[in-house]
Amino acid sequence: MKWDVRRIREWKFYEHPQGATILEAGNSLYYQTGSWRTFRPVWIGEKCTHCLYCFIFCPDAAVKVSKEKIAGFDYEHCKGCGICATECPREAIEMVEEQRESDR
Ligand code: SF4
Ligand code: SF4
Repeated sequence: MKWDVRRIREWKFYEHPQGATILEAGNSLYYQTGSWRTFRPVWIGEKCTHCLYCFIFCPDAAVKVSKEKIAGFDYEHCKGCGICATECPREAIEMVEEQRESDR
């Protein structure tokens, strides 16, 4: 959704759209913050020891875990911050640029 912000300096507080507003507990599930991403984490399985540091450090709970092992990323909520790649002791996560729409 695009907002017409030409008059934003004149807006009253009640005129601001309710973008990303937490109206009730748990509704962050419905905000697909992955659409903000410019880089995405890619897991390199052969380097991974499943230490799960990436899971612990991810601020968005976007590292999926199954049976105590990394099971990929939740790309609908991963913002591409790269913390998981920075903290991984095995360099088992690479940040790669998202494809531009025209490249798909
Ligand atoms: S931090 Fe690196 S080595 Fe550890 S589970 Fe994550 S990807 Fe694997
Ligand atoms: S890039 Fe950031 S948000 Fe995405 S999985 Fe890694 S730590 Fe989480």
